Amino acid sequence: MLTAKGIDGKLYTLPEKLSAEVISLIKRVQPYYCPCCDTELVLKAGSIKIPHFAHKSNASCDASSEPESTYHLLAKRKLFSWFTSHGYDAVLEGYIPTIKKRADILVRVDEKKYAVEFQCSTISEAVFIERTKAYQSIDILPIWILARKNIKRVDAQEFKVSAFQWLFVTGSSMYPYLWTYCPERNLFSAIKGITPFSPSTVFAEMTTAPLEKLAPVYLIPYRNESFSVTTLWRYKRKSWCLNRGKTANLHDPLFRALYANRLTAATLPIEVGIPVKGMSLIKTAAIEWQAWIYMDVLHKREIGQIVLLRAFQQAFQKRLASGLIKLRPLPLLSIGEKVNPIFEYVKFLITMGYLEETAVGSYKVKQKIAIPRTMDENEKFEISFYNEYKKMLEKESKERVQK
Ligand SMILES: [Zn+2]
Repeated sequence: MLTAKGIDGKLYTLPEKLSAEVISLIKRVQPYYCPCCDTELVLKAGSIKIPHFAHKSNASCDASSEPESTYHLLAKRKLFSWFTSHGYDAVLEGYIPTIKKRADILVRVDEKKYAVEFQCSTISEAVFIERTKAYQSIDILPIWILARKNIKRVDAQEFKVSAFQWLFVTGSSMYPYLWTYCPERNLFSAIKGITPFSPSTVFAEMTTAPLEKLAPVYLIPYRNESFSVTTLWRYKRKSWCLNRGKTANLHDPLFRALYANRLTAATLPIEVGIPVKGMSLIKTAAIEWQAWIYMDVLHKREIGQIVLLRAFQQAFQKRLASGLIKLRPLPLLSIGEKVNPIFEYVKFLITMGYLEETAVGSYKVKQKIAIPRTMDENEKFEISFYNEYKKMLEKESKERVQK
């Protein structure tokens, strides 16, 4: 345990690092008690293990399974800091007296409580279900995360999932997935699209990202089914916007063009720089080729004006010819497989409500792409854009499934 009750009844959480003096002080001075069973705890602090509390005797505590591994202690601590660093109201080892359960982390998101449980050791199916139901009975949603070290990856897209690990599968029957976390490397993964081949062999896709690059909201069921490449894309795009400007020189054509259009890399509309089908054919970064197209075709067009598909294609060809956009030779792709990324980008603009097709290859500007004026505004636009974009992707993937 990392949190204990003092004689004053208040909860104390051990800091990440404890000096030898502090350790001996805690050991000498204060008795600490288990928030669950009220028996006295001892502070365990050695050179290898993370300082933590343990029961003097583990005989009759409902909320405790000891000894706790360093891996588990580390995971709890890191996940907890992750929530608090994003401003969430989180409690490490939050104890809930009514159900006599102690969650690794109790966190509140928009008036809803979640119990985050990081599991490294195997518990019985009955215990897992009992704990889950206890949380649900008082309207707390459990979020179970598996220890990464226990995940058996046989191949890039093949995993062994034990009967115990199957209990952790969340999402919907249509989109089942698992969460896993490695506290040692601080990597968080979603194992998505789980397709069982046999009782324990599944095919699935694993997406991994450093914890600090993810927002905790991705863990919340029904809010975000799981994080996907989009999350990583979004993060990368943001850092491009912040850093590309710093490294560009005065003669950089893209930056000169942005400047001439009263735009900056940091405040490029979020609709510029999104992944579209077929974009692997273009060597230039998506954000750059889309910035050219945006400036050449859309930026100065007003609501109600007509824009032709040809205008998009001509703008692209013009920038190709001048070498500002480069193609990537992909000799193994057959012509039939090649989709036109420019057309896909136009399709995206239609889906997002900026353009309306009035005739084949002819579109009316329905809404202008908003340009953020400040970084705050940029942030707001970004969040609302990705909410819409996510809905669009979900709709697309549902349509794909139905087909
Ligand atoms: Zn206890």
